[in-house]
Amino acid sequence: MQRVSNWLLMATMGGAMTLAAMAFKTGAEQVMTQQGLTAQQYLQIKAADLDKAQLSYPDIAPLLEQHRANTQLRFSQLGQSVLGTPIWQIEIGSGPVKLLAWSQMHGDESTATASVMDLLQLLATAEGQQWLQGWQDKLTLRLIPMVNPDGAAAGSRFNSMGIDINRDAKALQTPEGRLLMQAARDFKPDFGLNLHDQNRFYAVGDSNKQATISLLAPAFNEAKQIDPVRQKAMQLIGEMRDLMARELPGYLAKYDDTFSWRSFGDTFAGMGISTVLIEAGGHPADDNRQVARQLITQLLVLSINSLSSGRYQQQPLSAYQAIPFNRDGGIKDLLIHNLNIEINGQRAKVDLAVDLDIEGAKQARLRDIGDLSIYGSYHQFDARGLSYQPPKAYVLTKPLQLTEQAYLALLRQGYSHFSGDERLLSIDTRLPVLLNPAGLPGDTPQRQRRATFLLANAQGVQLVLLNGQLLELSSGKLLNPLGT
Ligand SMILES: [Zn+2]
Repeated sequence: MQRVSNWLLMATMGGAMTLAAMAFKTGAEQVMTQQGLTAQQYLQIKAADLDKAQLSYPDIAPLLEQHRANTQLRFSQLGQSVLGTPIWQIEIGSGPVKLLAWSQMHGDESTATASVMDLLQLLATAEGQQWLQGWQDKLTLRLIPMVNPDGAAAGSRFNSMGIDINRDAKALQTPEGRLLMQAARDFKPDFGLNLHDQNRFYAVGDSNKQATISLLAPAFNEAKQIDPVRQKAMQLIGEMRDLMARELPGYLAKYDDTFSWRSFGDTFAGMGISTVLIEAGGHPADDNRQVARQLITQLLVLSINSLSSGRYQQQPLSAYQAIPFNRDGGIKDLLIHNLNIEINGQRAKVDLAVDLDIEGAKQARLRDIGDLSIYGSYHQFDARGLSYQPPKAYVLTKPLQLTEQAYLALLRQGYSHFSGDERLLSIDTRLPVLLNPAGLPGDTPQRQRRATFLLANAQGVQLVLLNGQLLELSSGKLLNPLGT
């Protein structure tokens, strides 16, 4: 049908535009309107230099400055943070359906801020411009990237007063929370997208897969009733579920739906805004959450398409209800399976869970011991046939030049770390070396102790766990370098 009408239009216009160009324009617009942003298209439009674990205002300021040249993006400064960093709002389109999206109200949750920058980047391309023409008279979008720039600068969840902005929706004591509330009151959006990051240890229900994306239509009361406003949010999530099933099946969960009176999502839900919470989560070999970043960009495009066309209204609530809940602690950093231990003559075969403490001081610890077969993990190792051997210090009494070969030789002899005067040790290896570590386990693995010990069989030490990283002595290779 579309092709025929193009021909008719061409005839009317007297061939002012070439047929090929016309067909291309219509095609590009339709493809993205109907199918959304494909993974392949995403790689072409992705904003540069944002592949980082933590984004702060200087990361996005040059991009915002660059996009101000795009006349279809209407920038306004909503205000500033406690410490004086500007907080911007960008308005796009002018249609009757109103969508407000905001990111990084928790300063250390920056994944979706990159997605918002990706969306602006998309709108700067010819393809994105065509796409915009398809919805700009149906929907008005307002974006507020990085609501908490002070927290972002400090790598902290909180604002510079130490307040959790997402628990300030009622008290409104933070300038950042006040300006978000004011933005919502001024705009009166139909829909809200509340963009966050969640911890990397959530599993999708009973599965062993990471919750790379979690979604929620927050409750507006303790009874978690479903009114028409919440129902629309659930239907939009049904659309998002379809996208996730196409792009990354098995990695979508639902966030805890306990009513949170002080939070913005729940408060907005009670103000008549159909609000969707989107949480970026972990994924294997993805420390900077670029997988979640791409998915959220795709979810932003999908939301615009679905809300501007009304397509979401066809989603049954059962689609939302079928999404499994987050399982807290369902994922571990490292699982070591089937390790032999012995205490007081009693032998046992156990699994060990190791927390790498990636976002903290990177002091890896043993978190669990026993049958851990119900958990998933970023890294795993089957230690069948190997036994736990306690860590042992090599005492430094004279200068030691620690080459890789010398180090591997000491590890084979059963040493796991060094004690004594650190100045005596000259480290000439890229392998992790532990100097005077505290809190090591004893004759058997112990919870909360540091994750450092040896794994041996009758032929001797085969592997060493060095601060949560497994070093295979035969190859000299780390099996799980620190990270996801
Ligand atoms: Zn958050």
